[in-house]
Amino acid sequence: MHNAMGYVRGGQKWMDAWELDEGATGWNSKTLISYFDAVEDILKVVYPANDTQGLVDAIFEASRSTGFPYNPSYNHGPDMLGIANFVMSINDVERETKQQANSNYNRITSYEKYLQSSRPKNLQLITGLQTIGFNFSNDEHPVMDSVELYSEKHQCKFSVAVNKELILSAGTINSPRLLQLSGIESPPAFFLSAVLFAVDNDTTHEATYRNGTGSLTNIEMLFSTGNMISNSWPIEWQNSLVLSPNIQQCKSRGTVMLMNSNPLIPPAIDAAYLSVDTDMTRVINSILLGRQLLSQPSFKKWNFQEVLPGPNYQTRDELINWIRGNATTGFHYIGTCKMGTDKLSVVNPHNMKVWEVEGLRIVDASVAPASFSANTQSLTYAVAARAVDLIVTEYKLKHNSSH
Ligand SMILES: Cc1cc2nc3c(=O)[nH]c(=O)nc-3n(C[C@H](O)[C@H](O)[C@H](O)COP(=O)(O)OP(=O)(O)OC[C@H]3O[C@@H](n4cnc5c(N)ncnc54)[C@H](O)[C@@H]3O)c2cc1C
Repeated sequence: MHNAMGYVRGGQKWMDAWELDEGATGWNSKTLISYFDAVEDILKVVYPANDTQGLVDAIFEASRSTGFPYNPSYNHGPDMLGIANFVMSINDVERETKQQANSNYNRITSYEKYLQSSRPKNLQLITGLQTIGFNFSNDEHPVMDSVELYSEKHQCKFSVAVNKELILSAGTINSPRLLQLSGIESPPAFFLSAVLFAVDNDTTHEATYRNGTGSLTNIEMLFSTGNMISNSWPIEWQNSLVLSPNIQQCKSRGTVMLMNSNPLIPPAIDAAYLSVDTDMTRVINSILLGRQLLSQPSFKKWNFQEVLPGPNYQTRDELINWIRGNATTGFHYIGTCKMGTDKLSVVNPHNMKVWEVEGLRIVDASVAPASFSANTQSLTYAVAARAVDLIVTEYKLKHNSSH
């Protein structure tokens, strides 16, 4: 898993919504928190101390005076609302090994933490091959038979028999694509586009929850300095403060569809960004919140001038124009093979098995039925950790009953 390393668990109420609203039975904050804990024991993500100074102090103060509390336990407490240092999926190498002279921090990867250091003896790892489809032995009730693989290096295809079952973890774009390539009738693959955690009150009445005390946060505002946007960042903006609102709980749904039956051709991805009005309103409200934060007295001594969107963009139409030309994605795609029981569900939440297919499970971000209002790597780790327990328990039960 290689990404921008932001590590956010998500809101506990949003976790409960998987079970309450999405039909993912057994998946809620209670069942997930111990898996988040277990994952973090292995990853050892860095929880920075509040050793803020200068500009960072001003950011904390501006958030406080705008009504957002300091909330350093947004990953552990019931409520994400508030401002805190951003937790990253990096390791403090010096503390762990005391060996690195120049750099204190290293990127955490799932490979390093789960495979490199403790690879099970019966696991063989083969890289450099592309899965291009599956073969099933029974047309009416498909049973997994073999996997088709392609080697670019050797320019050849071959297949490998599946004796028991296969666990597919090709991610939110490629898992549904492989199902489609293999002729599995899955619904059109929908995905959800996706640190100050805030609530956009204009659009929160979309959901109500019965228990818990947390806020239904739906804006994640990142503060950073320097270039967050592109290589064309002008030199005179190098010393800038950037507020990047990631809007959460988007209602827009995109699709991943095969362009044709050639498995080496990428799928057509239509993200349908901001195609629902409430999503656009949330982006606008996030920009307005950013402006409100930057107008707080604690920033006065820096005399910031807004360069993006800039003072010329004030009305809703002007802002929409700017957003359509400049907004980008956080790449937090989920939901293309979602767990649940409704018509759009692909995976059985009790055992990760693809509905109506024998011998195929999916364990990756594609099974997430809804967003936790957070970046998606932590969710993927927690889903995988719980899926392991579900699958191992099933095998143990089968083994015990056959003796
Ligand atoms: C640019 C970017 C930045 C991001 N930043 C963050 C962040 O800061 N914080 C955060 O929490 N999340 C972030 N994310 C999201 C996060 O990385 C994903 O949610 C997470 O990686 C999903 O894990 P996954 O196992 O479902 O899929 P992936 O990590 O995509 O893993 C799928 C694997 O399957 C392999 N694969 C796919 N198709 C095939 C095939 N046909 N044959 C063989 N192998 C195949 C891929 O090579 C890949 O190794 C970011 C994503 C991107 C793209």
